This record gives sequence, C-alpha cells and structure tokens, in this order.
Amino acid sequence: MNNVLEFIRECQENVFSGIGITSQDAEKLFNIPDENVPDLAKAANQITRDFNGKKVDVEQLNNIKKNACSEDCSFCGQSAFFDTGIETYQLPSAEEVVIKAKKAKDEGAESYCLVAAWREPSTRDFDKVCNIIKEINDKVGINVECSLGFLTPEQAKKLKELNVKRYNHNLETSKSKFSEICTTHTYDDRLKTLQIVRNAGLELCTGGIIGLGETRKQRIELANELAALYPEEVTINILVPVPGTPLELQVKLENSEIVRMFSVIRFLLPESVIKISGGRETNLTDSGEQLLQSGANGIITSGYLTMGGNESEKDFNMIKKIGLEA
Ligand code: SF4
Repeated sequence: MNNVLEFIRECQENVFSGIGITSQDAEKLFNIPDENVPDLAKAANQITRDFNGKKVDVEQLNNIKKNACSEDCSFCGQSAFFDTGIETYQLPSAEEVVIKAKKAKDEGAESYCLVAAWREPSTRDFDKVCNIIKEINDKVGINVECSLGFLTPEQAKKLKELNVKRYNHNLETSKSKFSEICTTHTYDDRLKTLQIVRNAGLELCTGGIIGLGETRKQRIELANELAALYPEEVTINILVPVPGTPLELQVKLENSEIVRMFSVIRFLLPESVIKISGGRETNLTDSGEQLLQSGANGIITSGYLTMGGNESEKDFNMIKKIGLEA
C-alpha cells in the first residue's frame, strides 16, 4: 500500500472515531496525486453513507426577488452593476408562492428555499416575506428555508419564530479571495450574519462558488473556513459564467478538482448535508452522479436562481439509479 492510500485511510479512521481531521490534513488530502482522486472520493462516500445513510436531500428554490441587486459580486448575473439582460421582478404575492411551494412538495422536494437578490431586506419587504412564510406553513407544510441577505438579530429571531428551518448565507469564496470578487461588502459582513443566524437558533447553510479563478490553495482555505462554522448544510456552486459579468470568460474547473472539493469537505464535515448547487448540470456531464458518490448528499432540483436545471423527475430517477434515496 502506498503512503497516499495509507494517509487517506488514517484520515478516514480519524473521522469515524470522532477525532476528525485537521486543516493541515484537509490540505494534504486536497493535494493528493490525480491518480488517487478516485480513492479519496471512495473514502468520502463511505463517510457519507456511514453518517448519513442513503438519503439525498432534495431542495427546490424560489427566487422571490430577482435581479437589480445593489451589490457587485462579480460572478452574479443579478447584480445591478452588470448588464446581463436578466429579467427583474419584485416580491410576488403569497398566493403565487404557495402554488409553487405546493408543486415542489408534490414533486418530492423536502425543503423549499425563498431567495431574494438584495443586500438585505427592507422592513416592508421583510414583513411581506414573513407573510409568505406564514402562508406556506399554513397551506403547504414543507420545510421553509430562506436566503435573504444580511439580517438583523430581530429579523433572525422572527424567522425562527416562523419555524424557518435553515438560513442560507454563503461565504462565496475564501477570505483571501473575497475582495477581488466583491467590493460593496466584506467577508466579515457575511460572517456577522452567519453569527446572527446561529444566535437566533436557526440551522445554518453556508457555502460558496468554486471556479471563480481562485487558486487551489484558496479552495482549500474556503473548505476549512466552512468547516470552522460547522454548518448543518454546505452548498457548493460551480461557476456558470454569465455573459455581461466580469467572469463571463472564466475557464471551467477540471472535474477532478470538483471531486476533490466535495470529498475533502465531507472529511471535514461528516454529518452535514453537502449540496451540489448551481452549475451541477452545466459543469458535470453526469448531473452529479459521481459527486453524490464522492461526499455530496444533496441537490437542488428544477432550476436555480437565474437558470434552468433538470426536471425533478430526472433527478429522482438518477438518485434511484445509483442506489440512493430521496
Ligand atoms: S450574490 Fe447576492 S449579494 Fe451578490 S450581487 Fe448577487 S444577489 Fe446581490
């Protein structure tokens, strides 16, 4: 047995025994030779199955406020800084959202995430969103999650009172890369909202986007930063360059690099949901089959914030085909 395989096995044993791996181990795992990536993926898959069984968390999104965001995140087609031609709309009525949430539930989604493209909700918009959540709770009965940008402690408390299960707020990229990606707010602003969410007792979903031109070292940095937050869910997007944004010509990541990312995060966070998010269908030729056997145990189905995706039926069939359950 060579040293790399021995190291992967030692790390895996440390995860199984509850000791876990260090950030240095994570870096070393990430940097294994290409020929050992399948071994890393296999070990990550064993951790996933041991801690989480065969279950795949399937979620649908509803972009309840689209485009014209005041922030300048350079990957984002919804920033008002870039001319992307993406449609713009404001908050829909609660009735419209309830219909979509019902459909998501009927299609088998376990959770329904309300996402809004703004820096933070105004008081008026926040009240409207709260009303939408109440209506979904009363009329649908699906786990409601939210991604509404920066929150005050009072707003986070209100969401908790409304039984919102989980709040999403991504780090986007590593701390050392962040200022190249966004200048209208800071990485620490994002950390502050994550802390507010935790303090309110909401479950935490956080993650980022890979393929922004960050180095591998910065991907490792992001993985370790996410692990330090110990979120209930990690959501990893793979960049789909949006015409009109500064990253429109960004080159795709190698598939093995994506597998490394998901596998190492699984070693770091054995119990969390690790979700393949935007870019799954575009960047991966197999819609995520391999990643669901390399550490990931969640997907978003039926499209994303500004682009379409697989129909839920196709995704559920894929999950079944690889012997997993939704
Ligand atoms: S990522 Fe979020 S905060 Fe940044 S521009 Fe897009 S919608 Fe706005």
